[in-house]
Amino acid sequence: MRKKIVVYSTKPYDRTFLSQANESRGYELIYLEDSLKPETASLAAEADAVCVFVHDHADAGALEILAEGKTRLLTLRCAGYNNVDLAAAAALGLDVRRVPSYSPYAVAEFALALIFTLNRKVHRAYNRVREGNFALDGLLGFDLHGCTVGIIGTGKIGCLTAPPLKAMGCKILGYDVYQNPAFIEAGGAYKSLDEVLSESDIISLHCPLTPETHYLINADSLVKMKTGVMIINTSRGALIDATAVIAALKSGKVGYLGLDVYEQEEGVFYQNLSEEIIQDDVLQRLLTFPNVVVTSHQAFFTTTALKNIAETTMHNIEDHFAGRPSSNQLVVGGG
Ligand code: NAD
Repeated sequence: MRKKIVVYSTKPYDRTFLSQANESRGYELIYLEDSLKPETASLAAEADAVCVFVHDHADAGALEILAEGKTRLLTLRCAGYNNVDLAAAAALGLDVRRVPSYSPYAVAEFALALIFTLNRKVHRAYNRVREGNFALDGLLGFDLHGCTVGIIGTGKIGCLTAPPLKAMGCKILGYDVYQNPAFIEAGGAYKSLDEVLSESDIISLHCPLTPETHYLINADSLVKMKTGVMIINTSRGALIDATAVIAALKSGKVGYLGLDVYEQEEGVFYQNLSEEIIQDDVLQRLLTFPNVVVTSHQAFFTTTALKNIAETTMHNIEDHFAGRPSSNQLVVGGG
């Protein structure tokens, strides 16, 4: 009998890429728009495996309901797993697998897009000319050549963000808890966190969200930065205390802010709320600044990345049913 996979939080593009990757495999894919939570877990009662994304809640309550049915595999279409209770999954005998890397290029390229957009005010120019306003006042940028860029988190994405900026004549500084030889090869120089904060014209965040990095950008760290600094976050929303950054935008301390992620993004990002009154006053305040660009957690969103996510997800499903262990498996306290 064909194995049944229930896919939660399905968007049209998930359906396209997963169905393509499944053509040669023939699993029965059941696509749900609902996110996984205790209230929706029973929808997967007949599923052999369940596939989830970043805003699904694979908490103990939901996992217990899945395990009461046929489900033995939870497969994530993402790298991060802060939304999965791994201890509960282990206790319930659920195999949890993820896609650890799908395209660091996609995210690095998007960080660069935010830097270029904010500096040269492309977001404003786009709207302005559509209104018949061809004036240049207010669109003044600066040469990136000669600027200092600080990369916080010099892993796969941070390392890919550095070389194009280096090639344009920027000085590249980095801070990480581990030194990555690839970052030094890319022309980066390691400094202390305080040095990166105080010497950089542009700061781009590429570290994971952990207890140590939570609110890395806060009222105290903002004081250490250059006046007019540009901050880019394509990593995780809670790296930034948005209230503190709003105060710094109002005072002019922060000159430019590019956010692809936001602490309270769940329930807002990936939804069309154009007919609704958005209740999040912090997000709405951020959207009023001319020198802020907010995007909806889309840095990963390229065809290459979606193909890789779908293909690795199918591999994870095959490996699980074949009883094959894999480095994509998540265990409590492991990677
Ligand atoms: P990675 O694991 O290759 O690199 C992360 C780096 O951060 C590592 O070098 C690690 O040592 C460093 N780090 C850990 N703790 C740190 C700390 N306290 N201070 C400074 N550095 C620290 O991960 P990656 O593939 O480069 O991804 C980076 C982040 O990008 C992910 O954690 C994820 O949050 C984010 N991401 C966002 C999107 C998106 O669509 N916006 C997509 C994928 C990944």
